[in-house]
Order: sequence, then C-alpha cells, then structure tokens
Amino acid sequence: MFAGLRGPARTFTYRIPEGLDVRLGHLARAGFGARAVHGVVVALDTPSDRELKPLDGLVHPVPLLSARQLALARWMAATYRCGLADAVRAMLPPALAARARGGLPAARGERTEPVFALTPAGHSALASAPPAKLGARQLVTLRALAAGAVTSADLADAGGSAAAATSLAARGLALKGTRGVRRVPVEFRLSEADLSKDMPATAPQAAAIATVIGALGSGRGFLLHGVTGSGKTEVYLRLTAEALARGQGAIILVPEIALTAQVVARFVARFGERVALLHSALSAGERYDEWRRVLDGVADVVVGSRSALFAPIERLGLIVVDEEQEPSYKQESAPRYHAVDTALELGRLSGAVVVLGSATPRVVTYAAATAGDITLLPLPERVLDLPLPRTTVVDLRLELKANNRSTLSSALRAALVRTVAKGEQAILYLNRRGFATVVLCRDCGYVVPCPSCEIPFALHADGRLVCHRCGREEPRAPAICPRCGSARIRHLGVGTQRVEEDVRAAVPKARLARLDRDAVKAKGAHAAMYERMRSGQAQVIVGTQMVAKGFDLPGVSLVGVVNADTQLNLPDFTAAERTFELLTQVLGRSGRGDVGGEGILQTYLPEHYAIVAAAAHDYATFAEHELRARRHFGYPPFGRLVLLQTSAAKEATVERRAAELAARLRAAADGDAEVLGPAPAFAAKRAGSYRAQLVLRGERPTAVLDRVEIGAEWTVDVDPMTLLG
Ligand code: ADP
Ligand code: ZN
Ligand code: ZN
Repeated sequence: MFAGLRGPARTFTYRIPEGLDVRLGHLARAGFGARAVHGVVVALDTPSDRELKPLDGLVHPVPLLSARQLALARWMAATYRCGLADAVRAMLPPALAARARGGLPAARGERTEPVFALTPAGHSALASAPPAKLGARQLVTLRALAAGAVTSADLADAGGSAAAATSLAARGLALKGTRGVRRVPVEFRLSEADLSKDMPATAPQAAAIATVIGALGSGRGFLLHGVTGSGKTEVYLRLTAEALARGQGAIILVPEIALTAQVVARFVARFGERVALLHSALSAGERYDEWRRVLDGVADVVVGSRSALFAPIERLGLIVVDEEQEPSYKQESAPRYHAVDTALELGRLSGAVVVLGSATPRVVTYAAATAGDITLLPLPERVLDLPLPRTTVVDLRLELKANNRSTLSSALRAALVRTVAKGEQAILYLNRRGFATVVLCRDCGYVVPCPSCEIPFALHADGRLVCHRCGREEPRAPAICPRCGSARIRHLGVGTQRVEEDVRAAVPKARLARLDRDAVKAKGAHAAMYERMRSGQAQVIVGTQMVAKGFDLPGVSLVGVVNADTQLNLPDFTAAERTFELLTQVLGRSGRGDVGGEGILQTYLPEHYAIVAAAAHDYATFAEHELRARRHFGYPPFGRLVLLQTSAAKEATVERRAAELAARLRAAADGDAEVLGPAPAFAAKRAGSYRAQLVLRGERPTAVLDRVEIGAEWTVDVDPMTLLG
C-alpha cells in the first residue's frame, strides 16, 4: 500500500514487480492515471482481489520513514481522524513531492571554509625542545592543531588563528584544505562565548539531568518546570550531549524560531555541524537540504518547529519540547496533531525520553505530572539569583472613580516617571487578544454574560451580542449596567496609539518606540526594535504580544500591563491559562539586570486567580484554581474535546447542516460525550462564508465519532487548543 505525496490524500495498492526489493518506508514511483507519482510504501502484503498495476520502481535505496515513524503515522491518523496519507505527508519535507524527479537529490553545498591538520613535520617541530623558531601565535596554533583543532573557529577558541595556520602550512608544518559548510543564518550565530558550558550544573539541574539520563531508552516523559532563567536550556544542552555520547540523536522542538533565536544559537554553538535546523521560516529548498543531512546521518541534533519531530534520526534518544504551552505546537490543518502528545507517543514507540519544558506549562501537562503519568522535574530558582519583579495589581475601577480617564493609572504613571528619571527602561504591554469583544461596566467590572451559559457574550461589529457556546443572541448591549446601574457600560477600546499619547504626556522627554502587529509586519522590525532598546536609543516601548517574547533587556526595570484582563473575558476554556502565561512572560521582562525590577498589572478583575497568581509568580496556586474550574465544567484534563466546524455561502445552509449533525451526534452520544451547540463559530463569517460549530465534550468523544458518519464538509479537530477558531 502506497501513500502518494501529491494528489488525493489517500492510500493506493500496487503490485510489487518481480525482483524489486521493496521495504516499508521506501519512496517509490508509480503510474497514477496518465502521470507518475511518488509515494511512500506504508504497508506490504495488502490483500486485494483486483488486478493491480505494478510499482514502476524505487526513488531512493534507503527507506525514508522507519517502522516506528509509520507506526506513529498510523497513531496520528487514528487519534486525529485524518488519512494515513495526510500523516505521512506531514512527516516529509514539502519539497520532496515537487523535487524528487529522477532520484533523491543530495543537499547542496553552499560555501567552503579552510580546514587544517598537522603534518608529520609539524608533529616533530612540537616534539623538539625548544620547538622550531615560531612566533607565539604560531606556537599556540600548532598546539591547537595537535589537540585536534580543525576549523578557524576551533583555532580561535584555542587562542590561535587561521592566518597563523596558513603560515604554518607555508612552512610545511600544517596541511591546508577546504570543505563545504552550510550557511548558518546570522540570527542563529551566537556572538558571546558559550560560557555556561564549563560551569558546574546547579543542584536542581544536576538532579534533573541525572533523572533523565537514568531513564534513557525507557520512552518516558518528563516535565521540566522552571521560570525563565532557571537553566532549562542548559539542561537540554547537557542532555543532548549525553545522548550523543551514547551514540543517540536528539530532536529539540522550539515554538516560533525567530523568537527563540537564542536557544537555537546555543545549540549551534555547542554542537556545530551536527545540528540541522528544520523550521518553516526556511525556504523549501533549505529545509530539504537540512532534512537530507539528517537522513544521511551527517546531522544528529535537530532543532526546529513542530514538524521537526518527524526528522529521520536513526537512533533517537531524546526529544525536547521547549515552551510546551505554545499554541503553535498544534497544527491547524490536517493532520491536526499536537506536537506534545505526538512526541510522547513517539517516545513510547522509540524508547526516546521526552522532556517538556516550560515556566508555565498547560495545566493538562501539569496535571499529568502530578498524577505521575510523566515525571515532574522542578527548577525552582533562577541560576543567576535574580529576584522576580515585585508586582502591584491596580484596580482600574477605582481609577475611574478617582476621575482618571487616562490609560495609565496614577501608580503606573508615577512608576514610569520614576523609571525614566533614573535612566532605566520600561515596557508597556497591551493585550490585543480579546480586545473589544465583550461588554464591560467600567464602574463595577461586570461583563455581560449569556444567561444560559454564563460565559461572556461576544460583541459583534454590528452591535449584536452572540454566545459562542450555545448560539443565543441579543440584538444589542444593555445601556446601563444590570449590576450597579452605571451608564459607563461599553466595550473596551484602548489601542496602542492612545497609550502612546498618554505616555508622551507623562514622560515627554523619553524616547519612545512602538511595536504593534502592524509595525512588526516588516521583516526584521522586531529585531530592529529590540536593538533600539538594547542600545539605549529608546527608553520606553509600547507594544502588543511581540514584546512579551524574546525581549531580554537588562536595562528594563518596569513592566506595565495596560489591560491585564482582556483575554480573560474571551469565551474559551483556555482564557485564564493563556492570561496567566502571557502575564508571567511579560512580567519576566522586568528586572533582568542588576537594577532590579517591578511590575504593574492594571485590571478590572483584580480578584481573578489568574491575575493574583501571576502577580505573585505562583504557578502552583494558579494551576490548583484552574484545574478546579476545569473539573467543574468537564474541560481537559477532566474531559476531552472535539471541535467540529463547517462553512457555507448561505447562513441557512450552515444552520441546517449543523442542526442535522447535532441531532445525529446527540442520538449516538450514549454518555460518551455531551454535544454543545450548534453555535456560530467565533469568527462567524470568514472569506464570505458563514461558519458554525459543534463541540463534543466528555470522556470518550472520539467514540461518538466512530458511530456517526461525518461528511467532508466538516473539519474535525480532536483535542483543540481553542474553541474560538
Ligand atoms: P532558561 O532556559 O530556563 O531560561 P538558561 O538555560 O537560558 O535558562 O539559563 C539562564 C542563564 O543562566 C543563561 O545565561 C545560562 O547561560 C546561565 N546558566 C545556566 N546554567 C548555568 C550553570 N549551571 N552555571 C552557570 N550559568 C548557568
Ligand atoms: Zn456596573
Ligand atoms: Zn450561551
């Protein structure tokens, strides 16, 4: 059986011609209609009672997918309800389908670098005492070559140089040659030396490393839980070194690669040529080249985004998923797999240990760790002993009562003035998610809920209120607050521009930078803005999500969150978790240098556990509250979810279709799951089509799917990260 790389995402059965040694995972060529297509052999000895066409031949002598990868593909197809061909395609570089015309092309060499080795004359020069007449730099270089240095970088590390080696070569003491090297993109080159490499591990690091090393080969999972700066990356690096020392390879998954350039750079610095970078920011050709280096066994450390999990490492010993809470680990098109769950399954299939790392893991992961399904490895403190910033929660309801209409509370304004006067830097953060989507009383903080579901109504552009869980609608928002009678009930409407004006008014002399989504669209804008702050050209930055990540600036001593709670009002089961995570991230930007740091959270919901726990840097308390709420509603990990969505040009069509499927699901549910909806999807209209959704929630929602035929006009998302898609 054969899964084509192009054309319909299905499997087809062919006959193996006499004399062709076909194995599982081989890339083969076959006639498909008038064309020839390439596909992966996913099963042998498939029974068939039809006359079968023969395969044309093999494309490459070595199977591209191993038996355990095929087993993983089968698991993905069963778990995420996709075709086996979808899963197989996700495992191979996209360029493969387009490229492999004749055979499988080798990775292209890109440029060359000089390499050196000692000649016998060089050896005897070192052995003679005193050594032949050499300059100090030449002598150091000669010794470095004797110790095994090969490249310019090796020589520089040892205090020598390529120039000195070249002159040694001219005297016959060294041999000079060249070799092809791969271009490592500049953003992944580390400027500073890799210092922590030779430092002793801290006690918690050593304990975590010993536990994982002891489990190598077991296929077990671990949660490395520690705040930013607690030394997680260093643990990944040392575990990778241990795996390599045992002849095993490692896969390191990182979320958005541009925002984790430092992590990638440290892997490149430590493992050099053995690292393959596999991520979506590469061109298809570059990605193919990197993948090919792994297939050829040249690279055995893979660093990359989600799909790097499928890199063809032969003896996989370690899988790391850094920032395991990141939504980008879930693929939003078929196969809709989650890289964390898939990594854990790959661990079970291959024996590789799986280390999930985070300061703010998803509560489902944390619950798995406290239940013992995976092992918790805590890193409780920052390595460099930096305290977390002292954080104040400001109640915005009181600001309004005190007649302050600015976007900055008096506390935040005072802190900003103080920070600027001291010559330190500040980050002001605005949460765009959840913006203007709810109706909120600015006097008492009341948010208008759906009476049936008690989750906030979403405010649509035409003024309607819509419940995205049950579909209930109100034509317009109330004019006065049902709780306190205030007329100041309206949607939130603070933009970066207004905050910027208020900042200019508060600190007119401070140099201001703005980083919102529009500003970062231009390639490199994020880096440019970071550089302006790093160099001190800018003193205050106002920004959205982008400033929360990757901004490691020792001069920043104040982080102000203008609206800490907007996201909390989103009608989604992960709203509190995402809020806590983001606030923790943003607050972590403060106090990274010796000047210390503080944080200020402005909110209409100062008592909410996500806000209180974020201000106190208290993950455990947050998780406890959040899990209690999840249990109450049967959300993960206490129940599983399946999100079903459909769209059509006519509203009536979607409504009829959704009602019809809802009825069939309810009839078949049989206590395995409850059926929520139909309701309009959160983006109720997209690209001119109306969209509706149904949610299955319960212990065995996929069992319900087994009993109901679901048409191709529906997308099925098992274990969705959000119900607001
Ligand atoms: P995290 O990934 O949790 O943010 P890192 O591994 O980046 O933490 O460590 C934070 C900082 O501490 C880095 O600058 C790193 O080089 C340094 N560091 C990590 N482990 C050690 C150690 N054992 N000794 C000295 N410095 C360390
Ligand atoms: Zn009110
Ligand atoms: Zn409702």
